[in-house]
Amino acid sequence: MEVTRRQFLKRTGGLAAVAALPAGVALADEGKGYRLQRPLGTIPTTCTYCSVGCGALVGTEGGKVVSIEGDPDHPINQGALCSKGMAMAQIPHNPERVTEVLYRAPGSSEWEEKTWDWAIPEIARRIKDSRDATFTDRTPDGKVVNRTEGVAFLGGSSNTNEECYLWVKAARALGLTYIEHQARL
Ligand code: SF4
Repeated sequence: MEVTRRQFLKRTGGLAAVAALPAGVALADEGKGYRLQRPLGTIPTTCTYCSVGCGALVGTEGGKVVSIEGDPDHPINQGALCSKGMAMAQIPHNPERVTEVLYRAPGSSEWEEKTWDWAIPEIARRIKDSRDATFTDRTPDGKVVNRTEGVAFLGGSSNTNEECYLWVKAARALGLTYIEHQARL
C-alpha cells in the first residue's frame, strides 16, 4: 500500500498520541513533554513570516502558545515548517516586544513615549490631510482613477491573514495604490 507524506505524518502523530495517552493526559511535571501528551486544542493558522504561506497548527494552554507544528492537511507545506515557522511563538511571547506607542517627530533623533489616545487621532488626522492634499480623481487624459499616491501602506510579518485582509480593505477604500507587505520584499 502506498503511503503519502501527508498520511505518514498524520499516522505517526496518531501513534505517538496513542503511546502517550495510557498514563493519562496530564503530565506530572507541567510544562514538559510533547503536545500529544496533553489535551490541547490546536488552532489552524498561516505562518506570517514569508510569502510561501505555510499552514500551521498552534496549540495553546492558559492563553500561551505551547506548540507549533506543520499542518499535514495544508496543500502548500503538507506538514513541514522551516525553522522560522517553528519559532512563530516568539511573536506573541517576546520580552523585546514594544508595547508602548513610540513617536519620533520629523527631524528628531529621539523617540518619545505617547498614549494611544494621542496616537490614534494623530494618525487619522495625518492620513486625512495627506489624502486630501494628494487625491486625484482623474488622470490628465480624463481616465477615472480615484486614488492617492501621497500615502503608502506597508504590512509586517507579524500581521495575521485576517489583519492583512482588513488593512488592505481600509487602504483600498482610501484610494491607496502603494500597498506592500514586508514578507514580499
Ligand atoms: S514556515 Fe518558513 S517557508 Fe513556510 S511560510 Fe513560514 S517562513 Fe515561509
